[in-house]
Amino acid sequence: MIKDVDNLLEQKKIRPTAMRILIFKFLKVQKVATSLTDIENAFDKSERTTLYRTLKTFEEHGVVHTIDDGSGVTKYALCEDNCQCDVETDLHLHFHCNHCNETVCLTNHKIPQINLPEGYLAEDVNLVVKGVCDKCNLL
Ligand SMILES: [Zn+2]
Ligand SMILES: [Zn+2]
Ligand SMILES: [Zn+2]
Repeated sequence: MIKDVDNLLEQKKIRPTAMRILIFKFLKVQKVATSLTDIENAFDKSERTTLYRTLKTFEEHGVVHTIDDGSGVTKYALCEDNCQCDVETDLHLHFHCNHCNETVCLTNHKIPQINLPEGYLAEDVNLVVKGVCDKCNLL
């Protein structure tokens, strides 16, 4: 497992330091998108700056993507292995549950082709569907 994370980070051109591997593994086991506060709470206070910097690095190298689910807090989720965070091919829908307040990646549901008026260029698309998730729907 450690070797795998090593390789994956190197593939994304990130030097696999101990801290980066830890943060990656933490995000890997999350089933839902995680806020910075949630991540901070899982680590030592003294590591906050490193934490924030690592997330930035991860974001720049397509290891994580951020989600604005309207809750006012930016959330982070791991990208798929071959993700380039490309608007046309990689970006997927997100779902925010109004009941449990969790946000998940719907990685198998890519963002549909969006036709913009001439002269407009999309650099990022944040599409969040809100409603009731499958778990809450069963309650
Ligand atoms: Zn991505
Ligand atoms: Zn729910
Ligand atoms: Zn996502």
